[in-house]
Amino acid sequence: MAEAKEKKKKEYNWNEFSICETTVMMLKKAAEDGVETAFVRAAEMKPCPIGADSACCKHCSMGPCRLNPKDPYSRTGVCGATIDTIAARNFARMVASGAAAHTDHGMSMLDIFREVVHGTIKDYKIKDEVKLREVAKSIGIEVEIKKKVKRDGREVEVKEPRDTLEIAKELCEELEKTYTQVEGEIPFVKRVPPKTVETWRKLGIVPRGSMREIMELMHRTHIGVDQHYENIVRQCSRTALSDGWGGSMVATEISDILYGTPKPLVAPVNMGALKEDHVNIIVHGHEPNLFESMIDSVNDPKLIEKAKEAGAAGINLTGMCCSGAEVLSRHGVPHVGNFMSTEAVLVTGAVDAMAVDVQCIKQGLATVAKCYGTYLFTTNPRCWIEGAEHIELDEKNPRECTDKIVEKAIERFKSKRPEKIVIPQRVDMGVHGFSHEYINYMLGGTFRASYKPLNENIINGKIRGVAGVVGCTNPRVRHDWVHVELVKELIRHDVLVVQTGCSQIALAKAGLLKPDAAVLAGDGLAEVCETVGMPPVLGCGSCVDNSRILIACAEIVKTGGLGESIADLPVAGAAPEWMSEKAISIGHYFVASGLYTVFGVTFPAIKGTKFYKHLFEELEELGLGKWGFAEDPIEMAHMMIAHIDKKREALGITGPRERKLFDMADRRALDVV
Ligand code: SF4
Ligand code: SF4
Repeated sequence: MAEAKEKKKKEYNWNEFSICETTVMMLKKAAEDGVETAFVRAAEMKPCPIGADSACCKHCSMGPCRLNPKDPYSRTGVCGATIDTIAARNFARMVASGAAAHTDHGMSMLDIFREVVHGTIKDYKIKDEVKLREVAKSIGIEVEIKKKVKRDGREVEVKEPRDTLEIAKELCEELEKTYTQVEGEIPFVKRVPPKTVETWRKLGIVPRGSMREIMELMHRTHIGVDQHYENIVRQCSRTALSDGWGGSMVATEISDILYGTPKPLVAPVNMGALKEDHVNIIVHGHEPNLFESMIDSVNDPKLIEKAKEAGAAGINLTGMCCSGAEVLSRHGVPHVGNFMSTEAVLVTGAVDAMAVDVQCIKQGLATVAKCYGTYLFTTNPRCWIEGAEHIELDEKNPRECTDKIVEKAIERFKSKRPEKIVIPQRVDMGVHGFSHEYINYMLGGTFRASYKPLNENIINGKIRGVAGVVGCTNPRVRHDWVHVELVKELIRHDVLVVQTGCSQIALAKAGLLKPDAAVLAGDGLAEVCETVGMPPVLGCGSCVDNSRILIACAEIVKTGGLGESIADLPVAGAAPEWMSEKAISIGHYFVASGLYTVFGVTFPAIKGTKFYKHLFEELEELGLGKWGFAEDPIEMAHMMIAHIDKKREALGITGPRERKLFDMADRRALDVV
């Protein structure tokens, strides 16, 4: 451990850092090995209190300017910017960066799709033609052609399926507008309930094209441009919507078309999926292309043979973070942990290679990898890391990159593994892969696939409402704990939970993505779960797959009986352990779509300021959703439940739901006992 830093040894209670048993085991081992992780860095570096409240600005060299979070209106920046302008601009830049990340991801997917369709990329193919046709139809592309034929001597018009490639080419051109269009409305606005779009049009927030929205938002946050928090937030909404109904949605839909639409499958999660006698390769990041090609490489008989010659029983491929969540949902590839376990998993010593692409890849991985002799490879031109080897993935010949990584991993297995390998023997099986399409079949059955049964169960009160619990993990709170407690409380009160990203992995490790977790649900939700055989917590995939939640909301509105706009629905969202700017963009597109969205950890605004009031109250008065904040998961759950009940009341469907909530007072009383 030559690279391990010489630090004064501090004693930590590792169980306070995480409820993930395997992560805690590895944190202890890292400490023994003298290896530092993000958990320790977070403990030793308190967040800056001014920055945490978003009360500082460094947008020009007259500053940086720091206001007083305890008395935010007592002064302004040198240019005269108030706390509302400063906080709104900071928030806006988070939205811009988060939306840019999803948009760039979506655009890369579209670039690949274009080349697949034109035959210049051959390693990937259109795998799901049904999905291709459905997506095309949803934005008004003809999927059938009319033909005149003679029948019984008469000329009649018949419809025939249109050529798949023709549809694909038109779809590609149309979806490009999501990014490049400068005027008009992005294509997937056609999927939004008309009343929601009407509100957006009234407010001037229908996205034109994500590049334009992001660019304008960055312009507006420059010194001396937009200095009215309401107007800045308006552009935040437009930009965030270009992510949710644009960049992210294109990423999800194209991935499904190219690699297959997920269907529920049983798959393992946790570090026990590593195998000591195998060559272990982890893919971590966000875009599915690297992973899809890696799947081909590890199944190549020649490479398997090479691994065997090196003394391995085989090659074991696993995933982490959102790349992992996506292929877990799509193909059942084992997942070894979420964002806050990425360093910990290297501490096992068992990982021969970790290949990363973009987003949520801690620079600290390079140091930990070096300590254990693990090869860390960057593969995307956007993401290099000092200390990691860069082997670029060229989509025209992706196997060149992934085969090389596999060969390097075999080399490490053969001669460079550390003496001591410790793999925590824990694996949590669960059901993953609930695409929005599958929710149709699951509740409606193959022959009457529809959201109607879901709507009926919401209307009759068996399902009180739906909550999207999503997002990152964060060492500023007890890892996984906020996610798990929040979800348990929600299902206990009959709220069906849908999940993505690192949150889904936290709940999988807690065993809640199994049908028998229905025993933890309230009577109504448990009855629905038992009848259908589904878990009370549905895993939908990666962060960009939050767009599946938007589509599900639109389908619920379209099906009828629960209002006319997304804002009418008894639905709420939460990112209880968020950390990335992408999470802020996601949160804001949930809000702008009409949903109440509660964040934990911290919130970049000061309570009592006009900007805070605008996000937390006034947006709802304008017909959108609103933001909420709570640190405590139970409080968070009851804020969401209260919102769901408010919506139920407005819809006139309160009847059977009028039993008393287990509120904060009840809980405190219990805690005392
Ligand atoms: S833009 Fe205004 S508040 Fe920001 S650093 Fe410059 S002077 Fe200070
Ligand atoms: S959920 Fe958050 S931390 Fe996890 S991979 Fe997605 S963006 Fe990164």
